[in-house]
Amino acid sequence: MAAPTVSLEPNPYYPKLFEPLTINGLTLPNRIIMGSMHTGLEDRAWDTDKLAEYYATRARGGVGLIITGGYATSRTGQLVTLGGKMTNRLDVARHRTITRAVHEGGGRIAMQLIHAGRYGYNPFKVAAGSEPSPIHPFKHLKMTNQIIWHVIRSFGQSAKLAEKAGYDAIELMGGEGYLINQFLCPHTNDRTDKWGGNAENRQRFLVEVIKEVRKQVSPGFPIILRQSVADFVKKGQTWDEIALMARKAQEHGVDAINTDIGWHEAGVPTIVTSVPRAAFVKFTERLRDEVSIPLIASNRINTPEVAEDILERGRVDAVSMARPLLADPEFADKAREGRADEINTCIGCNQACLDHAFVGKKVSCLLNPRAGRETTLKLGATRLARHVAVIGAGPAGLAAAVSAAQRGHRVELFEAGESVGGQFSIAARIPGKEEFNETLRYFTRQLEITNVIVHLGKRVTAEEILDGSASAADGDAAKFTDVVIATGVVPRIPDIPGIDHPMVMSYAEAVLGHREIGKRVAVIGAGGIGFDVSEFLTTDESPTLNLKEWEQEWGVSEDLSVPGFVTKPRPLPATRQVYMVQRKPGGQGKTLGKTTGWVHRATVKMKGVEQISGATYDLIDDEGLHLTLHDKEGNETGKRVLEVDNIVVCAGQESVRDLVDPLTVAGVTTHVIGGADLASELDAKRAIRQGTEVAASLP
Ligand code: FAD
Ligand code: NAP
Ligand code: SF4
Repeated sequence: MAAPTVSLEPNPYYPKLFEPLTINGLTLPNRIIMGSMHTGLEDRAWDTDKLAEYYATRARGGVGLIITGGYATSRTGQLVTLGGKMTNRLDVARHRTITRAVHEGGGRIAMQLIHAGRYGYNPFKVAAGSEPSPIHPFKHLKMTNQIIWHVIRSFGQSAKLAEKAGYDAIELMGGEGYLINQFLCPHTNDRTDKWGGNAENRQRFLVEVIKEVRKQVSPGFPIILRQSVADFVKKGQTWDEIALMARKAQEHGVDAINTDIGWHEAGVPTIVTSVPRAAFVKFTERLRDEVSIPLIASNRINTPEVAEDILERGRVDAVSMARPLLADPEFADKAREGRADEINTCIGCNQACLDHAFVGKKVSCLLNPRAGRETTLKLGATRLARHVAVIGAGPAGLAAAVSAAQRGHRVELFEAGESVGGQFSIAARIPGKEEFNETLRYFTRQLEITNVIVHLGKRVTAEEILDGSASAADGDAAKFTDVVIATGVVPRIPDIPGIDHPMVMSYAEAVLGHREIGKRVAVIGAGGIGFDVSEFLTTDESPTLNLKEWEQEWGVSEDLSVPGFVTKPRPLPATRQVYMVQRKPGGQGKTLGKTTGWVHRATVKMKGVEQISGATYDLIDDEGLHLTLHDKEGNETGKRVLEVDNIVVCAGQESVRDLVDPLTVAGVTTHVIGGADLASELDAKRAIRQGTEVAASLP
């Protein structure tokens, strides 16, 4: 379905969000902008068709404007060696495939132009100052005057080529710590020539880039600037500098400012799930007093309600959402049609998007494994409707049931518990993971829409499946043609003397509030769940921090004259003394997410959790948890008793596979997915991917 054309009728559900917006002659039908995200499909010519379909899917879903991942303006600025760029006629020809697909889908698309500077994973990189990148290994060359002018001209050249390729606008990446931002901040600009020193000199590079780009493109071609409005690094910009830069940007021909928050090396989390929604909009709103061009707010805006609320306040003109459009390409259409409860809301986990991008893997989405795989993972209508039993309504079973039913199969879902979600429902109770409830809401609604028959409180047996008595249907219609076993996992109970002591409980019992928990607690296991449970135990009963408390915990300064707006963090006191223990020697939390692990590690540190590695568990008794300690080489270094009131076991999980053999032996077509398939290295990303793939594999 093609996206709607511009409508002047007010939208009954989100009137502000669906007001048209014009940026230098380019009229958008709504104020939802898909922010730039590097997907990994930008870099190789043979991925062009996949990338075109990825964007076209979002265009058909009604988004106002798409902004591509960053394309380098020169070899010295590539994000990765041989990465995506816009420098010659071949690039133009390739990009016509993308712009054509988006326009045919009824959408509009802007190309983001980037120079990575010291952030490039690229041996040919150049940068403003001398300071090496803390996030990438290659050394860079400090730019000479000649190189600076070459790069300025490269921006103009690439902008001209982007216009030729059919893009509707360009965005200049001036934030997140990339080259333009590196010039703007003393943090990375230690130059003593006319490109460094005072604000005017540091801003000269961006001013010249804007002037050059304006010169090279048509007067009616929109230029958007992604401007950093909070660097969150020491020696970042002050507010006066940011405001001055915005005014200069408007003066030299920028048509809209898309605001950007935080460098990649910032010590303040800016996009993970525990960041309060719309936490940084106030920075964008402040710019309203400085410029009259459209302002776009970004970061942790993930629902139409939040977006509408921002726009209603009247100081921001549009909202940028990148990950929410990965999670649900139809976000805009669903909101426009009053179907917001059907949106698959991004939960800010980063597990399949940014965590992939930072290790060079193709970007997708934990909730929507089809993101980036639109041409290969298809859920087309079936021509042969089958009767499918899905056993277990954790993430794996939910994804399988909904996807199979969307294809037209007759699906019955069996869940032993009284509600859907499995282990994911426990995750949603962790402070800072409240967004996970959105996923449960999404699946619950999809089960209704797709007419899946849901049997709650039904621990189904192999016999009931085989003889059809589990089914809501009768007679022959009750027989299942396919059985998806998504029975998941149960917490592992390790073999420790005294493990059945009354002070011991599983993570599920602890988090679900089934048991009283004392003030001193030992956590056995320091994996993802050990960290989550430690955060849960050290946080107040009402876990959702308000914005002010969150800023205080992470050191966001209210004083706008402080460079970068960073100050000393002042964590709220922990509510319990927690010890987190693991058998492995060395640091804890090494397997946590690439872009989120540091936030968890910093959180348990700020809450004073004592981390003990290299331990063996000797005994649990009334005294507490008895440990033998070892050094990194495995040599015993001593004994210790943790005198605690309770012990929470987070020692991994084991698969629930009791139905696999009886059903397989009986000759039933079974598909085993999620934790039932393999408990180790299980997460919701694999569970949902397997669920979706099994539904796609049905005839
Ligand atoms: P499960 O979630 O275990 O679901 C299986 C379901 O099957 C259960 O509801 C069970 O009742 C049902 N069942 C079993 N047998 C039967 C039967 N015979 N009949 C009917 N029903 C049956 N993952 C992430 O990716 N990111 C995170 O940040 C994250 N955080 C987490 C935090 C915590 C505290 C916890 C506990 C987990 C977290 N996880 C996270 C892990 C994630 O929740 C699991 O990987 C995921 O739930 C596994 O999905 P599943 O569907 O395979 O199994
Ligand atoms: P995990 O990450 O594999 O950690 C299991 C922990 O238990 C480890 O610390 C392990 O350390 C310990 N352990 C294993 N066997 C043990 C035994 N027999 N006795 C005592 N200790 C034992 O698994 P998890 O923490 O249960 O998490 C499950 C999955 O959920 C993870 O794979 C993760 O992907 C997902 N998850 C993700 C997040 C996230 O933020 N992305 C958060 C939570 C969960 P030692 O062996 O060294 O003792
Ligand atoms: Fe959002 Fe997680 Fe999907 Fe990324 S992987 S788009 S953060 S839900």
